[in-house]
Amino acid sequence: MASVISLATARRQFLTNVRQDGMINGPRLIVYASTEIHVCITKALELLGFGSKSMHFISVDKNFCINTDELRQTIEDDRNNGLLPFCIVGCAGTVNSGAFDNLVELASIAHKEKMWFHIDGAFGALVILDPERCHLVQGIEQADSLAFDFHKWLHCPYDAGCVLIRDGAHLSSTFSVHQSYLAATEHGCAGDKPWFCDLGTELSRQFRALKVWFTLKEHGIKKLGKKIADNCQQAQYLVSLLSNYEDFIQIIRPVTLNVVNFRLEPNELDRSNDKLIDEFNNELLADIQISGIAIASTTRFCNRLYIRVCIVSHRCTFEDFDIFVAGLLKCYRLRLRSLQQSE
Ligand SMILES: *Cc1c(COP(=O)(O)O)cnc(C)c1O
Repeated sequence: MASVISLATARRQFLTNVRQDGMINGPRLIVYASTEIHVCITKALELLGFGSKSMHFISVDKNFCINTDELRQTIEDDRNNGLLPFCIVGCAGTVNSGAFDNLVELASIAHKEKMWFHIDGAFGALVILDPERCHLVQGIEQADSLAFDFHKWLHCPYDAGCVLIRDGAHLSSTFSVHQSYLAATEHGCAGDKPWFCDLGTELSRQFRALKVWFTLKEHGIKKLGKKIADNCQQAQYLVSLLSNYEDFIQIIRPVTLNVVNFRLEPNELDRSNDKLIDEFNNELLADIQISGIAIASTTRFCNRLYIRVCIVSHRCTFEDFDIFVAGLLKCYRLRLRSLQQSE
């Protein structure tokens, strides 16, 4: 919803009459983001009538960050082809690997091209609370809109998404409505401004801000920032444990944040058979989940399946990762043995 509100606000600034005329007969507005962007952006574009084809994906470098040279070139090519480049979406912490796009450079491209600059910082934006890693979000302050979640790295109960729009006037020009049944009385005590329906899509809505407020009041951003730093250190610790087995565990690097991706490639199996190894890791992950040790997930890099460990619990300790790796190796040996026996 934060993405929808951001992109709707951006759209209204480019198509001043979009609320009356819709998207018919308008220019072809194009949005740019890396191939690592979360699907919520494409979904928002579909809902808002842009269509998913209005998203032009830009490749990533070896650190999974957007290739800015390719971005510049694509924008230029699109302009030459009569399209209207309109929005750049940067990622502060990709869902797959926790990578940060170069936000300073994206801001400067957006500024030069007179485009809207949106940032998806779902969990990564909050690294700003960790003094040792806040440099990762440098440039975030230049965004026209920023979406992030309190229910991820601020540990609030689901759901509590947040969107910040630089210019409040843009928000009300996109959403404000004037209805007789919503008129406030000057000195009554109900219906005070602002009406939240003037700032987004919903009228009646939950009081999500309350749990965020209490989380901040109870713990303070210093302690919350420390928890974020702890998770990042735990990710590095997990890498150090796994790297003891690098003859058969392949780790995706760099590990920038709190996400560790790896896959096991047993020497006993045909390691050149990608499908077999994918299947092995997928089954291994299910074993780990069923064993009750941890809930990891999977993702793909270069179309190969990896086990993905995303560390966001404030209760995690280093010892948890000793237990995890021991459990992983136990599940691994069991699965390997049962495979060899069935051969
Ligand atoms: C989790 C995540 C989302 C989706 O957020 P929800 O709160 O689950 O809707 C979007 N982008 C990124 C980068 C994410 O990590």
